[in-house]
Amino acid sequence: YFISFEGGDAVGKSTQSRLLGEWLGELTGREVVLTREPGGTELGVELRQAVLHGRDMDARTEALIYAADRAHHVAHLVRPALERGAVVVTDRYLDSSVAYQSGGRELGVDEVELISLWAVQGLMPHVTVLLDLDPAVAAERLQGKPDRLESAGLDFHRRTREAFLSRAAADPERWVVIDATASIDDIQAQIRVDLAARLEL
Ligand code: C5P
Repeated sequence: YFISFEGGDAVGKSTQSRLLGEWLGELTGREVVLTREPGGTELGVELRQAVLHGRDMDARTEALIYAADRAHHVAHLVRPALERGAVVVTDRYLDSSVAYQSGGRELGVDEVELISLWAVQGLMPHVTVLLDLDPAVAAERLQGKPDRLESAGLDFHRRTREAFLSRAAADPERWVVIDATASIDDIQAQIRVDLAARLEL
């Protein structure tokens, strides 16, 4: 299985993906590979550094770096893991690009999606979990930690959230939308119920 977590900053994706990975490992007895974008590989860490902490760059350059990170991530880590029968859980995948680079940065949705699909040779997750949260609430959670939430502004993050939600609404077979205001345990319980049904576990 290939499962992605999506959503804005500070919605709890890394915690929830780790907890889900533990459960899936116990339940299926399979190897679980937990990974993330940007930065799931050694090269990816360098690309993440360049795009998040590097110099100012225009939206197209940024979109291509995310796509490059993803291409390498899939070719070197995700696809080999799936081929040996592992479960792969990734904290962000292609939908983050569509939401951030088209919703947030206002590039064309189709263009951004095309670049990403080309990068991964069409590999899509079986299930994508959207942890949905109002960016104003997420900003409170961060409590002044220096982050993209502050530098990009709330409007950017509102557009990103809307982009995730409309993508999820357009493909309910792939997406599971979870209200991320609940407690960590309640959110995880909800995800497990939904995934057990989707993946017939
Ligand atoms: O969730 P994580 O901390 O890995 O995300 C790093 C940052 O990269 C986030 O602040 C997110 O806003 C940004 N990002 C982006 N476009 C992507 C993926 C992540 O702008 N395609």
